[in-house]
Amino acid sequence: MSRQTNIRPDISRLWSTLMRSAEIGTTPKGGLKRLALSDEDAIMRQQFIDWCEQAGCTIRIDPIGNIFAERAGTDSDAKPILVGSHLDTQARGGRFDGILGVLAGLEIVRTLNDHNLATRHPITVVNWTNEEGARFEPPMIGSAVFTKQKSPDFAYSRLDKDGISLGEALRKTGFKGEEIVSADQFDSLFELHIEQGPRLDDAKLQVGVVTGAFGVRGFVIEIFGETGHVGPTPMPARRNALVGAAHVTLAIDAIGWAHHETGGKSTTMRIRAEPNLLGALPDYVEMTCDMRHPEEAVVIDMLGAFKTQIPELEARSRCRIVVKEGWSYGGMRFDAECVDLVRTSAKDFGYSTLELLTEAGHDAMHVADYLPTAMIFTPCEGGLSHNEAENVTLADIEPGVNVLLQAVLRRANRV
Ligand SMILES: [Zn+2]
Repeated sequence: MSRQTNIRPDISRLWSTLMRSAEIGTTPKGGLKRLALSDEDAIMRQQFIDWCEQAGCTIRIDPIGNIFAERAGTDSDAKPILVGSHLDTQARGGRFDGILGVLAGLEIVRTLNDHNLATRHPITVVNWTNEEGARFEPPMIGSAVFTKQKSPDFAYSRLDKDGISLGEALRKTGFKGEEIVSADQFDSLFELHIEQGPRLDDAKLQVGVVTGAFGVRGFVIEIFGETGHVGPTPMPARRNALVGAAHVTLAIDAIGWAHHETGGKSTTMRIRAEPNLLGALPDYVEMTCDMRHPEEAVVIDMLGAFKTQIPELEARSRCRIVVKEGWSYGGMRFDAECVDLVRTSAKDFGYSTLELLTEAGHDAMHVADYLPTAMIFTPCEGGLSHNEAENVTLADIEPGVNVLLQAVLRRANRV
């Protein structure tokens, strides 16, 4: 056991920072609405910066608004270890998703300060911009720009539903930084997060050792039909785009069912029909879809299986079906050494653990392509997340936070 295992974060202090965060953007049902780069997000960001400065950190903000708060190390050649997650939330989100990972990073810095403990590598607490994608799509855009998977200009051009661009929102909130911060400046990343699923809570296990991520494919489907009067138009003459959408939805659902025993999932999750009027046959539908599987190769097969069905779906619906833009992330396994630090730290505390893959998207998945990365999950009540009722107790999070501190300390002091 490490000589530092007796150092524990102050969980009640962490809890009070979480409860202060829960006051910023509170919804009537006790959750949070703190959309990326909204006024509420700006208040929370400033609160986070104030806390980090009070803890002696140096703040850097990059051009996409990611905030990096660094506690210095003793070795000027050693690169900082990133610890963090996101402070933005869904429109009807909870109080812990993402927020726990950022504020636990702050608590680590405060704990090391309390014990006057220096680390060889610096420790940098990070808040990624627009993780949720609830205001600007796609999600996880801050970490995508950080890792150069997306350009800043692409990110700035993203529009919210009111037509405000992410670039404008960055300027309006004052969070368009000028520091050039990139993945090659860092050593590794540790992200603590609530599980957002029920496996830990159901099994009453304390710590999720996240070994990697599901492969994810997102894509947009366009369906082209022809409009006409819903009365006189004979059935054989119709090309109703919503009928095409129905066939597509069922086909995609069936692919999820065909793979569900090995963990596969597929979803049509959003639809827009035109002209969307009484009395008119719909001539256009845009749908957004998502497929996930633990194995990257299988999610590729699932998407392929859908594409091969398109001619048949077109024939049945008499519509033209086009698979448009897509995105992909995940499908990787996290860094073996960093994951092992999490595993052995949990074991040294005697915690019960579950090794699992993350099924949700996280910034760590972007960063994992560039830096040694690991994630730690804490249980959350009933696995409920992206919901105002999302909940954890202090006892739920304490083991994960202890493990985070130990794993980061061991990484930060390795020779
Ligand atoms: Zn999250």
